[in-house]
Amino acid sequence: MTESIRDDILYDLERVAALHHITVVDVDRLSMETPDSSIEKSKLILMNPTYEKCSYEFRLAHELSHILFGNGCSDEVYQFSPYIKRGKELEMHKHAIDMLMDIELPTSPFTFMDFYKIPYWLFDYVKSKFIELA
Ligand SMILES: [Zn+2]
Repeated sequence: MTESIRDDILYDLERVAALHHITVVDVDRLSMETPDSSIEKSKLILMNPTYEKCSYEFRLAHELSHILFGNGCSDEVYQFSPYIKRGKELEMHKHAIDMLMDIELPTSPFTFMDFYKIPYWLFDYVKSKFIELA
């Protein structure tokens, strides 16, 4: 996967958002430590472009998943974390991986991990998904 397709992937994710009437806002001037967040009920995603843990595309796919796969009722504010390995966060990480692989099938699970800066502990899932689709 080369850098030149990053814009196309982002475009596809933005189309998913538009199709489901999800508002995505890039919030400027946040600290690099401030994670992205989303609110299911409001169909609102607040992205921090300067946050560096994981790629923007992976994080956006994760936040989109909260809204697409949530029950639509929760007004809880979900904050992105690359460290939480269970519950809804794990579930949305998996949905994000599925979504990104559907957009562009990588040449290997390693290039996928590297391109999207996915936390290493998700490698087994990435590998199994790749094998399923390849
Ligand atoms: Zn989350």
